[in-house]
Amino acid sequence: TQLVICDNLIKIYKAGELETVALQGLDLDVYQGEMISIVGASGSGKSTLLNILGGLDVPSAGRITVAGHDLSRLNEEDRASYRRQIIGYVWQQSGRNLLPDMTIEENLILPQMLNGISAGRSKRRAHELLELIGLATHARRKPVHLSGGQQQRVAIAVALANQPALLLADEPTGELDSTTTQEIIAFFRSINQKLGVTIIIVTHDIAVATQVDRTIAIRDGRTSTETIRREQPINQ
Ligand code: ADP
Ligand code: ADP
Repeated sequence: TQLVICDNLIKIYKAGELETVALQGLDLDVYQGEMISIVGASGSGKSTLLNILGGLDVPSAGRITVAGHDLSRLNEEDRASYRRQIIGYVWQQSGRNLLPDMTIEENLILPQMLNGISAGRSKRRAHELLELIGLATHARRKPVHLSGGQQQRVAIAVALANQPALLLADEPTGELDSTTTQEIIAFFRSINQKLGVTIIIVTHDIAVATQVDRTIAIRDGRTSTETIRREQPINQ
């Protein structure tokens, strides 16, 4: 089944007289349980697409459905709960993922409490997540005391805290060396298989793009059909 359906998606940014067409009729289907990467030149519309998928921005026209939610029709309040319940984000900069003054454990508890989960349940889930990322002994440390790869694993765990259907990652290995990049991609793959979560990774890194079920190239705000590699998803 399809988790994401984008049909003729258009996004135009307006600033006074100036209009920038960021997406011009983009089509995209992503199946439940897939792990895909999105590649494309700077300015091709990757971040715009990710922001729309994540409910941070709305399209100017076209249809987009994620996990049965028609994103062009959600009001502000429904979009906020969509962001909390359906989506997990991992950003390039670990500083944008983790609160520096909180411990790793607190970073994992916070998004759950903001989502209405009780303190007790949030704490139990935080410890399951710490086991999942192999950092159970680091619960009381602050992010600054972890390596870049460890911080990015915590960021992924934070994104998974509310059991999202869709994990979005914007250049999640952009600040990591190649060994750590491999490790993080393998980790994305393992949670994709273990938890069944669908993953979309925007990347410039060819090493990432070769390890997913499918790579989609975006060019001038459209999926570039000649470079789409359609394969049977590994999980299906
Ligand atoms: P990418 O992530 O592939 O680099 P973006 O989605 O950031 O591409 O940008 C696509 C186009 O839209 C670019 O021309 C960019 O300058 C423009 N753009 C992106 N965000 C905004 C914005 N908030 N306001 C105006 N123009 C924007
Ligand atoms: P990326 O590394 O993904 O290409 P960018 O530097 O293009 O990132 O964009 C970073 C952020 O700035 C994004 O959220 C994007 O929407 C916004 N942005 C990009 N271009 C513009 C623009 N011309 N005007 C306003 N915001 C923009």
